Amino acid sequence: MKGTFPIEKFQTLQTPFYYYDTELLRKTLRTIQEEAGRHKNFVVHYAIKANANPKILNIICQSGLGADCVSGGEIRRCIEAGFAPSKIVYAGVGKSDWEINLGLDRDIFCFNVESIAELEVIDSLAEKKGKVASVCFRINPDVGAHTHAKITTGLAENKFGIAMSEMENAIEKASQMKNVRFVGLHFHIGSQILNMDDFAALCNRINDLQDKLEKKHIKIENINVGGGLGIDYQHPNRMPIPDFKEFFSTYARHLKLREGQKLHFELGRSVVAQMGTLITRTLYIKQGTAKQFLIVDAGMTDLIRPALYQAYHKIENISSEEPAETYDVVGPICESSDVFAKSIDLNKAHRGDLIAMRSAGAYGEIMASQYNCRELPKGYITEEL
Ligand SMILES: *Cc1c(COP(=O)(O)O)cnc(C)c1O
Repeated sequence: MKGTFPIEKFQTLQTPFYYYDTELLRKTLRTIQEEAGRHKNFVVHYAIKANANPKILNIICQSGLGADCVSGGEIRRCIEAGFAPSKIVYAGVGKSDWEINLGLDRDIFCFNVESIAELEVIDSLAEKKGKVASVCFRINPDVGAHTHAKITTGLAENKFGIAMSEMENAIEKASQMKNVRFVGLHFHIGSQILNMDDFAALCNRINDLQDKLEKKHIKIENINVGGGLGIDYQHPNRMPIPDFKEFFSTYARHLKLREGQKLHFELGRSVVAQMGTLITRTLYIKQGTAKQFLIVDAGMTDLIRPALYQAYHKIENISSEEPAETYDVVGPICESSDVFAKSIDLNKAHRGDLIAMRSAGAYGEIMASQYNCRELPKGYITEEL
C-alpha cells in the first residue's frame, strides 16, 4: 500500500521538497502526552536535532513538550519557536563558551554535562555572571543498543558521557563548586532502538547506580533516559505512531523511581520520522548493462541517511500504477555514494513521475547540505497545500 498524498498540489511545487503530514504529527504528539501522562512524574522533551523546521517546532511546542538541544543554535531556534527556557535541556560533548553563556543567559533548565573539564568551564562562566547553573551528568552506562554502529552512543568506547567509574568523583566535585547545582543523571544509549530489552537493560543499570549513590546519601532529583525509540522504516503505514505505550511502560516497570523523582525523556525520531516524506521527481530512466537506473532530482544533499548510515527508506512511485520494474534509485550528486536504493521494485517510471521517500521526517531536512551548490530543500506542512 502506498501512502496517500495531495499529488495535485505536489505537481505545482518545485522538487525536491519535504512534505510533513501535520495530522499524523498531532496524533503522534497526543499519543505521547496520553501515554506518558499515565505515569507519575514522566516529563517528555523533543530532541530538536531530528527536525528543527520552525513550523514543525511550533506545533511540537504547542503540544507542551520540552526541548532537548545539542547546540547553541538549537537553543536559539527552539526559543524562537516558543519553547520556555525552563523546559530546555542541553547536551553535547563539545559545548563552546558562547553556547554555555547562551544557556546561562536564558536560564535553561539544565546542562547535561559530559566531562569534568566541561563542568569546570560551566562553573567559571556561571561565576562571571553571578549565576548558578543546574547540571546533570551524562553517564555512559556501557549498555549496548542493538542498532547501527554509527548511532550507538552508550558503549564504553563512545565519545559521549562520563564513565560510571568517574560518576561519584564528578558529583563530589560539583558539590564543592559554588556556581553549579547538581540536579540529576542523564543517559542516552543510541537511536532507532526497537527492542524494549535494551531500555530495560538501561533501567537495571540505573537502578544499580541509584542504589550505590543512595548508600552515600546522594540525592538525585532527575533521571533523564534520553531518546532512542525506533520506527518501522520497512512499513511506514503499518503503525505510523510508534508504540509509546510499551515504551513508557517498559520504563515504569523496570526503573525504580524514588519518591518525587522526575523521569525525563528526549524523543526525536519517534516523534517526527513517519510524518515526513521527501518528494522528488524522476529526471531520467537510464539503462545500464545489467540494470536500470532511476535518476531523481533529490540527492544525498537532501537526504543523507542512505549514504551515511546505509539507511533504508521505503520508496514509492506515486505517479504510476503500471506493473513494477526493478531500479537502482540514484541522485544527481557527483559521488558514487549518492544512491537511495539498489534493485528495488517500483511501478514502472517515466520522466516526470513523482517519487516519495517515506519516513524521512527525522534526520532528513535538518541534515541537508548545499554541496554541489545546490539549494536546500523546502519543507511544506499539510496546512500550506
Ligand atoms: C539524538 C539524541 C536524542 C534523540 O534520539 P532519537 O533516537 O532521535 O530519539 C536524545 N538525546 C540525546 C542526548 C541525543 O543526542
